[in-house]
Amino acid sequence: MGGRRLAHLRKGVATGLCLLAALVPALSPAPARAQSAPMTLIRDTEIEETLRLYSQPLFTAAGVESNSIRILLIGSKDLNAFAGPGVMAVFTGLILETQSPNELQGVIAHEVAHLAGGHSARSGEMSQAGLRPFLLTMGLGVLAALAGNVEAGAVLASNAGFFGTLGAMGYSREQESRADQAGASYLEAAGLSGRGLVNFFDNFRYQEVFAEARRFGYFRSHPLSSSRIDALRARVEGLSNYNAPDDPENVRRHEIMKAKLQGFLNPGVAIVKCADPKADYPARYACAIAQYQLKEPDRALKLIDALLLEQPDNPYLWELKGQI
Ligand SMILES: [Zn+2]
Repeated sequence: MGGRRLAHLRKGVATGLCLLAALVPALSPAPARAQSAPMTLIRDTEIEETLRLYSQPLFTAAGVESNSIRILLIGSKDLNAFAGPGVMAVFTGLILETQSPNELQGVIAHEVAHLAGGHSARSGEMSQAGLRPFLLTMGLGVLAALAGNVEAGAVLASNAGFFGTLGAMGYSREQESRADQAGASYLEAAGLSGRGLVNFFDNFRYQEVFAEARRFGYFRSHPLSSSRIDALRARVEGLSNYNAPDDPENVRRHEIMKAKLQGFLNPGVAIVKCADPKADYPARYACAIAQYQLKEPDRALKLIDALLLEQPDNPYLWELKGQI
């Protein structure tokens, strides 16, 4: 990684969505990682706030001190999420596949259950691969990155390749069903429905039938079976919050988060909606970001100024405008 790129990264950190450790290379030990997509650590205040807001009630329900867990946003097309000591990571590929905040909170609840159950720290696969000390190193790297020492964090991240290693780490079938059940309890305690988690799994059930589940990191490390989904569904259907609707503010945040990620990561897709002046806020926000990404700053600024007329106090719009 050359000095120019690091300088760019440092510059990016103060503003909007930022790629921290560009192209974290895959480490050698775990075999499943051969097919992993490139990964980056993304810093974005708006999305981090949303993920924290979604996770907070689940940490509380699990008796996990929220401040002790760093929530990382990993830029990767891979559909994945993982939890390790002091860390929970959510991949952009997973966020973009969720249809509602409840689906995302379901996956988070499941990961919090792994965290609360100490699953990754105890997993046999991890000790076999000698990954325990490796994970401790990872914790430090992440802390350095999040404390603002971008360069140290980026260097550690790219050297260790820890996202790939953690993301590919498997859990036992028993740990999976325990995490499903505990996750369902946390959702219920937080006043949330477990329906989203079941729906999310259900959407990918057919993948297993065609032996394609292995395309997705999440289902490599969290094997999915029909009996597992059935057991989870039976449990959540019996809980009193099963029909609880999504909080409208959470829905709004979910749409904005997905729109922002589309604008930054898939500008060619987001730009298609720019033609419609009556499009909703998330779509126009995505358009502005996409124009910026496609090196059309004048068009981007015009769109942002229009959004600012509607939301003059929105700090993220001002942040984006400054960035452009
Ligand atoms: Zn799992």
